[in-house]
Order: sequence, then C-alpha cells, then structure tokens
Amino acid sequence: MVKLFDAVCPQCKGKFHCHWEDLRHKDYKLVCPFCSTSFAQEESPQIIE
Ligand SMILES: [Zn+2]
Repeated sequence: MVKLFDAVCPQCKGKFHCHWEDLRHKDYKLVCPFCSTSFAQEESPQIIE
C-alpha cells in the first residue's frame, strides 16, 4: 500500500496529499497544488500522518 500524508502549504495554508515515497529524496520539494509554491517538508507548518 502507498502511504500518504497531508502537508500544509506555508504560503496559502492549503492542505494537500503527498506520498511518503517523495520524502526519500532529500532534495525533494513539495509543490502546493493551490499556489504552486515549492517548499521543503521542514517548512510546512503541519504534517498530518
Ligand atoms: Zn499553497
């Protein structure tokens, strides 16, 4: 099964689904689907597992 989590965008506070697979890559930036902001997972104000 694919693990999912919710990340919160630091810009627009939008919440969206991400795959854990993405986090295996250290330089991977999450991209907000609402405002297209890219940010590191550490910058997300909230990660909901
Ligand atoms: Zn956003």
